[in-house]
Amino acid sequence: MKQFRNRVIRAGLGALYLSGAHVLLRPIFSGVGAIFTLHHVRPRRATAFEPNHHLEVTPEFLRATLGHLRSHDIDIVTLDEMHQRLIERNFARRFACFTFDDGYRDNRDFALPVMREFDAPFTVFVASDFAEGTGRLWWIALEKVVAQASLIDASIGGEACRLDATTPQAKQAAYRRLHDWLRALPGGHDVRREISALCARHGVDEAAICPELCMTRDELRTLAEDPLVTIGAHTISHCNLAKQTEEMASHEMTESRARIENVLQRRVLHFAYPYGDRISAGAREFALARTAGFKTAVTTRPGMIFSESAEHLMALPRVSLNGNYQDERILPVLTSGAATALWNGFRRVDAA
Ligand SMILES: [Zn+2]
Repeated sequence: MKQFRNRVIRAGLGALYLSGAHVLLRPIFSGVGAIFTLHHVRPRRATAFEPNHHLEVTPEFLRATLGHLRSHDIDIVTLDEMHQRLIERNFARRFACFTFDDGYRDNRDFALPVMREFDAPFTVFVASDFAEGTGRLWWIALEKVVAQASLIDASIGGEACRLDATTPQAKQAAYRRLHDWLRALPGGHDVRREISALCARHGVDEAAICPELCMTRDELRTLAEDPLVTIGAHTISHCNLAKQTEEMASHEMTESRARIENVLQRRVLHFAYPYGDRISAGAREFALARTAGFKTAVTTRPGMIFSESAEHLMALPRVSLNGNYQDERILPVLTSGAATALWNGFRRVDAA
């Protein structure tokens, strides 16, 4: 299903670009602004097996995106400024916000210098366990397992499977199968148990991943001193909130904020739902974020910001800068809103 959607999006983007339809659609679907989602920013690695490649863009592509926005006279603003404009209904100028999820160190090393070139503010959403060095980035652990294995034994849905992982193509298929199985498990502890077993069997040091990739509390404190930087909350454990009890989901939101506020000694006002799709964040989670008192909360549902978004500040859509589509010709299509409008069946707001 995911691959099918990727193919539709890719064909859709290409078709929109070639037809020029995004130019015609612009006045209707471009909205008042957009919030971009990024994860890693780092130079291209030369590996054939990169199942998480969609989560990273190069500094050059980030620079091209910022240049494109500036050349179209689009303001690059903080989430606080976006919030202000939405509640004041100040839509005189189009805006873009940049958000980086999870708190990766490459945001500081590779994104910050590019953002500085454009004097562009941005928000980093931090899962507090990641900053404490104890986080479990199971999708990266799985990548490492599959990268070094040639055969993987797993019990998927109670059925013993032996997955071939000898070629990049076989690794990709094995990763997909294991990833979909893990994401469908009932709870976070089930994922942790299964991934730990896989790591142990294949000699992957799971505990080393978080400190290797994520900024520590001290690093975040220093980063937060930069006037361009806002730090937001992203739960404690990076769990799927919709699978938690209401009490636990609420705790994940408020306690992660308290921990980050304690590190930074400043208020944390914005939140991003982990995974952020329809199966991870819905009406209950939006209500919990409102009760928790966040100013805004962002999903990963694709969409532009419209004037109506002011009524749905706990369910803001974003536009992913997806590492699989790092082609500058895509940028006018992305900022036109035509791609996300296509995805949403031309509905402007999707906040149910
Ligand atoms: Zn995340």
